Amino acid sequence: MTLLELYKSGKEVLRTAQIEEWELDAWYLLEHVTSCTRNDLFLHSDRRVENSEETRYHELLRKRCSRIPLQYLTGTQEFMGYSFYVNEQVLIPRQDTETLVEEAVKYIHPGMEILDLCTGSGCILLSILKLVQNVKGTGADVSGPALQVAEQNRICLGVRAELLQSDLFDQIKGTYDCIISNPPYIPSRVIDTLMEEVREHEPRLALDGREDGLYYYREITEQSPVHLKPGGRLFLEIGYDQADAVTELMEKSFTDISVKKDLSGHDRVVYGSLKT
Ligand code: GLN
Repeated sequence: MTLLELYKSGKEVLRTAQIEEWELDAWYLLEHVTSCTRNDLFLHSDRRVENSEETRYHELLRKRCSRIPLQYLTGTQEFMGYSFYVNEQVLIPRQDTETLVEEAVKYIHPGMEILDLCTGSGCILLSILKLVQNVKGTGADVSGPALQVAEQNRICLGVRAELLQSDLFDQIKGTYDCIISNPPYIPSRVIDTLMEEVREHEPRLALDGREDGLYYYREITEQSPVHLKPGGRLFLEIGYDQADAVTELMEKSFTDISVKKDLSGHDRVVYGSLKT
């Protein structure tokens, strides 16, 4: 079989299975299996593929048809221009979350100490550490397997960071200039309405914000004041309809509260400074 024939068969398999981005997914899986480039596909489309590549490609297509997200099959997702390793133990980094990082790095300066709660793949903490020099970063997550993913990403990106297993602030001793978090925020009953890729394959622990979706915001806004230095800031990613509720939770201990929208125009980030 040639490269082009293999690609065509892949597109057909995913299209028939009604995979939304069938064309793109067929391409990314092909690239993953054969290491070919877009150029190869068009200029060397008659290149013969190994039988083993063909078998491997069809194995991955089958998995994609069973709604396993593309990123768990290729093991990677880009975030803030960096490549992050992912597996089913962590949430796949979302583009929306880049808004949180972009807002936080306007504030974070060399010499600061920062804490990322619910770090998952480590995408937030590690991209901040790449973008701002001389920041002392700690990432916490309740899940040991998620922390192994974060550690692998830390090594690949070549940054220093402390990664520790902690249920929110349980094991956190220090005080920080900035606390940042994209906690689970989907109300439990809404999870069943999400697309199968998310609902069946991404870790429920990373999605489920309990009954009203606000459980982690309550805990974090309540507990962060003792872990922030005077005037320190808290940055939270929120769901599109949670700005009012989370602002209200923050008002008790924070001032100068702002809400920022993501690129699709949805409220996505709330931040504020610790009242003095
Ligand atoms: N911090 C990680 C991310 O933003 C994981 C978030 C989570 O597990 N809720 O992708």
